[in-house]
Amino acid sequence: MSRRRNAILAEMGLAPIWRERGRNPALQSARESAPQSTERLPSAPRLGVHSSSAPTSPVPEGATPAVAREARIRGMDWRELKQAVPACTACALHKGRTQSVFGVGDENADWLLVGEAPGAEEDRLGEPFVGQAGKLLDNMLAALGLMRGKNVYIANVLKCRPPANRNPAPEEVAQCAPHLLRQIALIKPKLILAMGRFAVQTLLNTEASISSLRGRVHRYAGVPLVVTYHPAYLLRSLPEKAKAWEDLVFAKKTIARGDR
Ligand code: URA
Repeated sequence: MSRRRNAILAEMGLAPIWRERGRNPALQSARESAPQSTERLPSAPRLGVHSSSAPTSPVPEGATPAVAREARIRGMDWRELKQAVPACTACALHKGRTQSVFGVGDENADWLLVGEAPGAEEDRLGEPFVGQAGKLLDNMLAALGLMRGKNVYIANVLKCRPPANRNPAPEEVAQCAPHLLRQIALIKPKLILAMGRFAVQTLLNTEASISSLRGRVHRYAGVPLVVTYHPAYLLRSLPEKAKAWEDLVFAKKTIARGDR
């Protein structure tokens, strides 16, 4: 492990736990020697939005306004989507936002990281994960040899900040998730890292706990999806950081395997 990486991990309060196991055979876990789980949950394009990158998505005749809206979003290109999100008033969150937080990074990234919703700093600056949780996320990425913006795209389920950082409401997720699903379809990532309960619920349509879903490759619309804890949770729970590191290493191996 390089001195720089050690320094990063120490900064995170993670050293000596966070090591890529492949680089330190002494820490090889029982899980890794077990056959790799390749369980695939049924992909769950919950809101009727699929990962098609078709340029247009005709609105079905007689569609309800909600279905018509989803179909319109499904047909958007990047430019249209980037105009639609800041203009969106589909839920009440637009009233309290300083600005929407669209997402950031490489639009052709292999890695797509999905969080929950903007917090105060993200609302102020217009970029996801720029607060404390974001610093941890950046450090986690650096420890893996990754960096936001370079082969990595970061987005949230909600594009507007819930007041006082409360949990997203189901109606807000229902209105906003089509934007995320369209981002997924446009990026066509090789892997989605779903961070925390709301990303997981939205993309896998399950109420199962994060701990029960970790360590397996799931699928969203055919794209391999790995589940991990939300960085904000990791800030409060030191022991889970080691597990999140395992998840990231697992995700990296999944990408390397070209698990399509
Ligand atoms: N938490 C999130 O889920 N997303 C952000 O952008 C910031 C904090």
